[in-house]
Amino acid sequence: MFKIAKAKWPELWQALAREGQLYLPALVDGKTDFAPWQKDTKVDLLTAVTAKSLKQLFFAQVEPLMHFQTSGKKVAVTPQELPAQPTIAFGVRACDLAGFTILDKVFLKEPVDTFYRARRENCTLIGLACGFPEETCFCQTFNIDAASPAGDIQTWLVWDNLYWESRTGKGQQLTAKLAALLTEATAEDAKLVQAQQTKIRETLSKLPLGRLRFSPELAKHEQEVFNSKVWEKLSATCLSCCGCTYVCPTCHCYDVRDYAGKDGAVERFRCWDSCMNGDFTKMAHGNPRKGQLERFRQRYMHKLVYFPEDYEGTFACVGCGRCLRICPVNLNIVKVAKELEVDLHV
Ligand code: SF4
Ligand code: SF4
Repeated sequence: MFKIAKAKWPELWQALAREGQLYLPALVDGKTDFAPWQKDTKVDLLTAVTAKSLKQLFFAQVEPLMHFQTSGKKVAVTPQELPAQPTIAFGVRACDLAGFTILDKVFLKEPVDTFYRARRENCTLIGLACGFPEETCFCQTFNIDAASPAGDIQTWLVWDNLYWESRTGKGQQLTAKLAALLTEATAEDAKLVQAQQTKIRETLSKLPLGRLRFSPELAKHEQEVFNSKVWEKLSATCLSCCGCTYVCPTCHCYDVRDYAGKDGAVERFRCWDSCMNGDFTKMAHGNPRKGQLERFRQRYMHKLVYFPEDYEGTFACVGCGRCLRICPVNLNIVKVAKELEVDLHV
């Protein structure tokens, strides 16, 4: 394990930025969110949960897919080049790192999403332990360890030192390039990190959702969950604002559209969408989910039932708590799961 003192962090950001486009948590418009690093960036390593997750790093909010040039009846197709720029994401929390493993199951299975894969492979992920978890955190529900984040490198912020440990070959390569800035940690340092890990785990277990568990029985009773009477009550107040899906590290609905430009040029692009939207999955014969109840139910059936059915019991949630904080009418996955469990007696 290595360490680097606070006074040297600006040099660390500079050194990382020389190896690729660096993203880290920063104060942006009064909120902490991931942002590309520049010399005047106000880095914030204390806020545990950024406003949005970092999923847009691999699954872009809007991206071109291909270009068509039409001329009479002729069409020339130019595919979009795959992203090749190396990136480094620093300060990624354990829940968001776990979110990538869920997105991997979707985008890296056949047929592989080559845009996602290119960005994923070009990125070095540096995790940061959550010294100060938030009241809405419940990552431990899914056995995610906020005290030992995954990624290529994991780090801990203890007082004014950042402790640094590589976990993969990619992490070791990057660490070797930073040798001039890093100091070997001592046995005393290792004890400080261990003490912080213990404190983080204790804190998480004492939070309001510290003992929360989602029942695996939900996924085993698809029809009963689908037909539960709770959907009507819960969906009635949803505003379809889609805030919950855009901030969620595991939501991955998207739309593909063509945009006609000038002189026969057409751009095909994709952008984030949400199963909460009224026109999502609209088809020639109409929309299979006609009302708010069906759309609301779809989002939670997917996270609590369909995804675990498809992926060996894995819920499509990492307990980041963002949907608990953003929903203007206080709807969220915890509330939904609890109501379903009561209704089904599981
Ligand atoms: S459903 Fe809510 S708590 Fe779970 S990962 Fe998504 S935003 Fe986070
Ligand atoms: S944030 Fe709340 S109101 Fe908005 S779509 Fe999600 S559940 Fe509905």
